[in-house]
Amino acid sequence: MSLVLTEAPVSRILTRASGFLLTVSSHSLQPYRGCTFGRTLCGVGCYVQHNRWVTRGAAWGSFLEIRTNAADAYREQYEAERKWARRTRNEFTIFLSSSTDPFLPQEERFGVTRRLLDAMCELPPDALIIQTHTDRVTRYLDLYRPLAAATRLRFHISIEGDRDRLPSLPPPASSVARRFEAAAALRAAGLRVVITVSPLLPMAEPRAFFERVAEVADAVVVDHYIGGDGSHGGARTLATPLPRAMACVDPASVGLDYRDRMVALAEEVMPGRVGVSIDGFAGRFRPAR
Ligand code: SF4
Repeated sequence: MSLVLTEAPVSRILTRASGFLLTVSSHSLQPYRGCTFGRTLCGVGCYVQHNRWVTRGAAWGSFLEIRTNAADAYREQYEAERKWARRTRNEFTIFLSSSTDPFLPQEERFGVTRRLLDAMCELPPDALIIQTHTDRVTRYLDLYRPLAAATRLRFHISIEGDRDRLPSLPPPASSVARRFEAAAALRAAGLRVVITVSPLLPMAEPRAFFERVAEVADAVVVDHYIGGDGSHGGARTLATPLPRAMACVDPASVGLDYRDRMVALAEEVMPGRVGVSIDGFAGRFRPAR
């Protein structure tokens, strides 16, 4: 399948949060429309592929629209959206990003995220959550120090489990080991890091996994596709090949009990630093028992 790249200026780049993001942030921000990780492991169950407003009928992972003027659009919207967010949502919090990855390989050429982060150093939100599936996040370490001085910054690194491969599915965009290394590098730079185990995949050695998470991150979020993909009973994900591949590895992993077992284990390993589903994404963690 070929990749269709287009460049398109946008008039607005800050989207007021709705749906599952309502308790997480006041706004989301997508530097790109589409995601070239759509053909990797995370793209298999990715809920965005069901959003026709984003895909406009094209296959997920087959297109990418580069929002070349995203930083200028941010500057233009900043004052009005910050005012609105502080008035109606208490604070101006940005989730970067919910329907693409800010650090796609194409970012190297187009630099849309880099210019946006530069703009945020000048005009910071009250809080910024940077969500990614790739170790490429460490390429902008130089920007994160000034950014962290200007806003409450936290990184969500998605690591869905301890396996790089599930039967019949493509490999991840970034290996489990490389994402752990990226988390460690961010944390070593004094930055706040949360590992988002979302969607939870079958683990080979869950205790060892959470012990590694405890070393490289401030907290962990465990999220199953049932209850986590925004549809009743995980219907959206059930329409993809992901559950079948998970069941091949461990039939128990497709049930919500599996999430609860993993949460209990995570709480043993890192008490007070475990969040479940949307509460965890919003930064609410279970108290240590
Ligand atoms: S990086 Fe995020 S948006 Fe892109 S395919 Fe993976 S899960 Fe979907």
